[in-house]
Amino acid sequence: VKAGARGSFAWYDEDADRQSRDRAEIASDLKHAVENHDIVPFFQPIVRIDSSELVGFEVLARWTHPTRGNVPPFVFIEIAEDSGLIGPLGMALLRKACIHAAAWPEELSISFNISPIQFREGALVENVQKVLKETGFKPSRLTIEITESSVIDDFEIARKKIDAFKALGIQIALDDFGTGYSSLACLRSLPFDRLKIDRSFVTDISEQRQSQQIVSGILSLASGLELDVTAEGIETADDLTYLQGLHCSLGQGYFFEKPVPAEQISWLLETEW
Ligand code: C2E
Ligand code: CA
Ligand code: CA
Ligand code: CA
Repeated sequence: VKAGARGSFAWYDEDADRQSRDRAEIASDLKHAVENHDIVPFFQPIVRIDSSELVGFEVLARWTHPTRGNVPPFVFIEIAEDSGLIGPLGMALLRKACIHAAAWPEELSISFNISPIQFREGALVENVQKVLKETGFKPSRLTIEITESSVIDDFEIARKKIDAFKALGIQIALDDFGTGYSSLACLRSLPFDRLKIDRSFVTDISEQRQSQQIVSGILSLASGLELDVTAEGIETADDLTYLQGLHCSLGQGYFFEKPVPAEQISWLLETEW
């Protein structure tokens, strides 16, 4: 509506008004959803690119709203951050994910997203540790995914948290690598274990010369820094073949599998990878 409403402030205002009403409504529904456990973890396979072996899953939050249907995570995560719900939401999700994953084979790990505001919470490390204790899920099977927005404000505070996670045996991944302004400064300043190459560089890579050069550069950088790499957004066999040629170690994307509910994992584990 905004784009087509040139000069029409009435339209614009109405739209903005409706949007903020929507947000307020979603925010109050979100509180109930967190309390009622209506927000659930889905799991997207992460696969070793050379052997197609399954190594684990990224945990992705899903909310089916009673009247609105699926609310996308980029909408409700932001609202959760603004309304102080992100902490409880995140820990409830992590607890559910760990309970499921504890029943899967030992060698499978899970990768869990922590948003910038969530990362800044004082008790984050203790809360994560508490969930691991309660669920009996091994810290060495958990990776925390953060983006550079979580850390650029203050590398020293970020380093303390990352060190505390690593002291517990948890791994740390830098998510959406290459999309921010300070990706390289982050790598230089903080002890990451893994990079996730943003899907904007991966999808269609076999036809995008710029992406090819960028991804191959990221891979040699990562190998020099002894970082593991996951390519996100592998959608086609061509994407996969190209990344195989570059010897990228791990991959994730619709070509392998979409994010699926926990109930489908046991079935997934029986199929060939
Ligand atoms: P992200 O961490 O970069 O997650 C990857 C997103 O890419 C997911 O979107 C996933 O469904 C999507 N994706 C995976 N493979 C493909 C592919 O081949 N093609 C395309 N086009 N997309 C693919 P989703 O689940 O909608 O999540 C969006 C963002 O919301 C996530 O981006 C993450 O930043 C945030 N998010 C999701 N779940 C959580 C959560 O539990 N906690 C926090 N803090 N953030 C979350
Ligand atoms: Ca992620
Ligand atoms: Ca990502
Ligand atoms: Ca993202």
